[in-house]
Amino acid sequence: MKVYISLDMEGATGIVSPEQVRPGSQEYHFGRAMQAHDLKSVLEGLREEGVTDVLVNDSHWHMTNLDIGGLPSGTRLISGSPKPLSMVEGVGGCDAAFLLCTHAMAGTEKAVLDHTLSGTTVHDVVLNGRRVGETGINAALCGFLGVPVALVTGDLAACWEAESLLGADLVTCGIKEGHGRHSAELIPPVETASLLREAARQAVRKAAEDRSPRLVLDAPFVMDLTLHRTIQADAAAFAPGSYRVNGRTLRYESPDLLDVRRWLCAALDLAGQEGF
Ligand SMILES: [Zn+2]
Repeated sequence: MKVYISLDMEGATGIVSPEQVRPGSQEYHFGRAMQAHDLKSVLEGLREEGVTDVLVNDSHWHMTNLDIGGLPSGTRLISGSPKPLSMVEGVGGCDAAFLLCTHAMAGTEKAVLDHTLSGTTVHDVVLNGRRVGETGINAALCGFLGVPVALVTGDLAACWEAESLLGADLVTCGIKEGHGRHSAELIPPVETASLLREAARQAVRKAAEDRSPRLVLDAPFVMDLTLHRTIQADAAAFAPGSYRVNGRTLRYESPDLLDVRRWLCAALDLAGQEGF
């Protein structure tokens, strides 16, 4: 079995603040260490189940957080950005996807560092009529490429979001409980290590029995992207194929979900140049 891991950071053990996940900030070293800790725990669980073929995609910020020096033999790492499928680059052909250290979508209450792709630009994303965050977008891409999602880890809000999207067969592992966007009740790494290891083992067993959920949406795929400010929508509207629904919202439609993801990247790049 080949397991794919999309590795974010906000939902890692111990993390509560923007400084801990922002490259260049004084506290970023803590975020990196905790991200690596959670990954290591999951890799141990995989190894205990006999899975050594693992593809890890660093999917946080500039996507160069993970130190390859700490990875065991057999692991492959996709590092850096941009890349066509962003947080799920390389997932095609894998047998199961794990989404690790995730966070809830923008607008979620009691959710550590809730946002969708970009906290400064994105207010909301709706895909085929359903509000989605990064987990929804990434799970839909996995489903489009025929890959089930077997495990989601993060705070409780991220886990609930994933369960409501993917159903009870999804294995989740909640390792902290948000009290607000920048506060949470934490569990020490010595305990989350065994929780994550056990969750990985359970997820692999379910995937091997073909019981892991697939999020398969019907074509055509329609995405509504609502930005915080009209100037951001003005700029994002230059992405080819954009339809302006209203002042803040753009729509894109395609029979190819990969095409929708590429449009989203382009629109957000354009919107991101307009901060004020
Ligand atoms: Zn992130």
